[in-house]
Amino acid sequence: MIKIDNLTKIYRTGSIQVEALKGICLEIHRGEFVAVMGPSGSGKSTLMNILGCLDRPTEGRYRLDGEKIEELNDVQLAAIRNKKIGFVFQSFNLLPRMSALKNVELPMMYAGIPSKERVERAKEALQRVGLADRMHHKSNELSGGQRQRVAIARALVNDPAIILADEPTGNLDSKSGKEIMAIFQQLNEEGSTIVLVTHEADIASHAKRIVAFRDGEIVEDRAVENRTMIS
Ligand code: ADP
Ligand code: ADP
Repeated sequence: MIKIDNLTKIYRTGSIQVEALKGICLEIHRGEFVAVMGPSGSGKSTLMNILGCLDRPTEGRYRLDGEKIEELNDVQLAAIRNKKIGFVFQSFNLLPRMSALKNVELPMMYAGIPSKERVERAKEALQRVGLADRMHHKSNELSGGQRQRVAIARALVNDPAIILADEPTGNLDSKSGKEIMAIFQQLNEEGSTIVLVTHEADIASHAKRIVAFRDGEIVEDRAVENRTMIS
C-alpha cells in the first residue's frame, strides 16, 4: 500500500537548513493500523505531510497504492490526494455553521458526485461512526468527540486507500479520545488502513503497530503486544 524508500526532507530557510527526515524507509500494508510516535520536532508531521501528498520529499521514493508519487506533477498529486487519502486533524477542521451531513458531503462535491448519491453516502458514513442521530446538527452544536466523528466520516466518504490522522485525540478528554480510538479500531477491522500520530502511549496501544521517530529517524518499529481493544 505504502512504500517509502530512503526518504529525506530538508527544510531551507535562508542559510538555515533542517534535515527533518534522514533517509527513512517504511512499508505499510493494506489493513495495517500504525501509530507514529516521537518527541516534538522528530519529523512526524513532515512524514504525514509527505504521506498525504501535501508536501514533497527532498530525496527518496514514495509509492502509494501503485503510484510513483515523486514523479507526479502538482495537479496529479492533488487528484491522488482527493481520491486516495482521508485526513483527520487534531482540530477537526469542520465548517462550523454547516450541518454534520453537509460537512461530510463536501469531499464528494469536489469530486463532482451528484446530490442524491452524496446525501446517501454521507448518511451511511455518519452511521458508521455512530452519529446518524446528529446529522442535521451544525458542527458547532456538537461536542468535541462528536465533531471528530464527523471528521472521520468525512475522511471515509470517498473510500480512501489510507486514513491519515494527526493527533486526532489531542483536543479531546480521555473518554472521548477512547471513543474515537474505538471507531478507528472498528474501521480497521472493516478493512481500513490507518496511520495515526500520537504523543500518548495509551492511545498508541490501540494500534497494531508502533513506529517511533527521533531526530528524523525511525528508532523503533514493533507490533503492539496485548493490544487494547475497545468495544
Ligand atoms: P500491500 O498492502 O501488501 O503493501 P498493495 O496494497 O499495494 O500491497 O497491494 C495488495 C494487492 O491489492 C495487490 O495485489 C494489488 O494489485 C491490489 N490492489 C492495489 N490497489 C488496489 C485497489 N485500489 N483496489 C483493489 N486492489 C488493489
Ligand atoms: P514533529 O511533527 O515530530 O513535531 P516536524 O515534522 O514538525 O516534527 O518537524 C521536524 C523538524 O523540521 C523540526 O526541527 C522542525 O522545526 C522542522 N520543520 C518542520 N516544518 C518546517 C518548515 N516548514 N520549515 C522549516 N523547518 C521546519
